[in-house]
This record gives sequence, structure tokens and C-alpha cells, in this order.
Amino acid sequence: MTTSNILLQCLLLMAVVSLTVTALPPIPDPLSKVPNIPNPWLTFKNFSGCHMGENRTGLASMKKYLNDFGYLPSPLSNSNFSDSFDSEFQDAILSYQRHLGLNTTGYLDDKTIETMVSPRCGVPDIINGTYTHGRHLYTYFQGNPKWPTSTRDLKYALIATSASTIDVATLSDVFARAFSRWAAVIPMNFTETTSTVDADITIGFYNGSHGDGEAFDGPLGTLAHAFSPTDGRFHLDASETWIASGDVTESSSDVAVDLESVAVHEIGHLLGLGHSTVEGAIMYPTLTVRTRKVELVQDDVSGVQNLYGSNPDFKGVAPAGVAGEMDSSGSGEIIRARMGLGVAVTFLVLTFLY
Ligand SMILES: [Zn+2]
Ligand SMILES: [Zn+2]
Repeated sequence: MTTSNILLQCLLLMAVVSLTVTALPPIPDPLSKVPNIPNPWLTFKNFSGCHMGENRTGLASMKKYLNDFGYLPSPLSNSNFSDSFDSEFQDAILSYQRHLGLNTTGYLDDKTIETMVSPRCGVPDIINGTYTHGRHLYTYFQGNPKWPTSTRDLKYALIATSASTIDVATLSDVFARAFSRWAAVIPMNFTETTSTVDADITIGFYNGSHGDGEAFDGPLGTLAHAFSPTDGRFHLDASETWIASGDVTESSSDVAVDLESVAVHEIGHLLGLGHSTVEGAIMYPTLTVRTRKVELVQDDVSGVQNLYGSNPDFKGVAPAGVAGEMDSSGSGEIIRARMGLGVAVTFLVLTFLY
């Protein structure tokens, strides 16, 4: 083979490689799913790909986020979180990924960031992890609090609605529907009352700081939070674009949040459920904007029936969905995840909230 032939073949090969490369589809931007709508956590997009040993300006804000939701202990007194991706942060990321049902990569992959930026419930995820043989399930609050057996008729009152633009009659309808979804599966009745004194559960809309140490953060970010039994407080961020009637998926607003979807979730907390790792469950911590999610799935039903038993009229959830992940044997096989000392320190703070 002559030198010119070799050269020619090399050129041909390069042309083929070049054609192959140009024929490839464009690489999609995985974070394009995160719209550039202002929200308290949007800057997390800047940490895409960040991994162990790196320093990224502002990473401390993500540590604060993980601290808020129970994954990372507070920094020692008189110090702040650093911007370094250290081993403690990696452990927190892995724990977050496990709790949110994500791939446990241990670094800030795009799916993890996309999930972190999503609007969500303000109740921390790590309270008292409940797992069955490594399968992810519903959880309960620390100590498994629930309404006593003598209490099967709960009264709720709308006590702070002036910060909402939705009329009270519409709000009443939305919350009645949300409560009825839980009443259908457990032997518990929910009735609205106008008497705050009689109410077991109180519901209100608030802006920013509102007296319980858990300030709301404006549009998106944290949407709402509720307290475990038998506290009964259920607070919603008044600055959200709440949709109480009509189809949220058809809303003209990019930041529309379906009120009933959030109400069904928060009522789960009022009954004693923590967050689930099952993405389709009502008790999963995040909710996508302009999305309606109001149907209890098997994981939610198993969790709440394990606390209160079944409504005799309940005929089951269809389709079966995550039935394969159920622990039908009750709590006997449930392994309680033990919290490390660091997380336990966080809980000293959280105990105040619950
Ligand atoms: Zn929640
Ligand atoms: Zn509150």
C-alpha cells in the first residue's frame, strides 16, 4: 500500500467519522425541564454535575436546603455551611436520592437537581424512616403519633382565609373533597365547623413568617406544611397561585398549583403519615406545577390503614399500582431506620415543630 493510498484511506475514515458525528441527534439539555421561573431554589441549577471534592460558590445554600428537610445536621454554633462538597454532604445527597426514589449516584446529577428545584411540602422527609426489607414505603412521624381510638370524628375549621383570593365557599368544597378521599379508606369522619374552639384541625393561608418558626418563602419553593397528630394545624403559603376550581393543567399561569392536590397531601400529615419514597404516592414530597394529583395509591392506603384500620366500605385501590411493595403483614416486619447522631441533632429542632 502506497503512502498516498494510506493518506486517502485516512481521509475517507475521517469523513465517515465526521458524518457519523454530525448525524447524531443533538444532546438534550436535561435541565431544560426546570423552567427559568423564579423560585427559591432555582440557583441549584448552577451546581449541575458537582461531585465529591469540588468547591462551588453558593453550595452552602443547598446544604441549608438539605438541613431544612432533615438530611444534614446544622453547622456547629457560630459557624456557617461551607461551599465544599465534603463526605458529609455526599452522605446527605445519597440519603436524599434514596428518599426521593432517585438513582443513588452520590453527586448532583441533573435528575437530582430537577427534583430539588421542584416545589414541595415544607415538612422534612427524614422524621422516622420506615422501610420493609430495603423496599421503599410510606413513613410516619417520630413516635408514630396518631389520633386516639376514641377520636373517629374530626372537625376542621378554615380559620385564616383573608390572605387568599379564593372565596370561602369554594375553599370549603375543595377541603371537603380532599378529606373525603381519606375518609373513604379509614374509619374516620371529617366535618367542617365554624367554631375554632371545637375544631381538631385548623386550616389557614399565611405569608412569610407566621409564628411557628417555619416561614413561607413566596411563590413556589415550599407550598404548605401540616403538623402531626394531634396538633391539627395545616398552613398554606398564601403567595402561591392556588387553583381551587377548573383544570389546573389548562391554567394560564406557569406557577399554578392545584389546591386540592396539596390539601390531600397535607391531610396525610394531619393523620400521621410522613413522606413516601414512592413517586406516584400522594405522600411523595414534591408536586409539579400545573399538575393534579389527588388519588390515593396503595402505598398511601397501606400507610394510613396501618394506623387506623380500614373503612368497612373500602373496596381497594385500582389499579394495584405499587401493591407489590406493600407490607401486608403490618408493622411486625417493618424495620425502623435508626437515625445517626447528626440527624438526631436536627430532630431536636424539628421536635419543636411537631
Ligand atoms: Zn408533606
Ligand atoms: Zn406554619
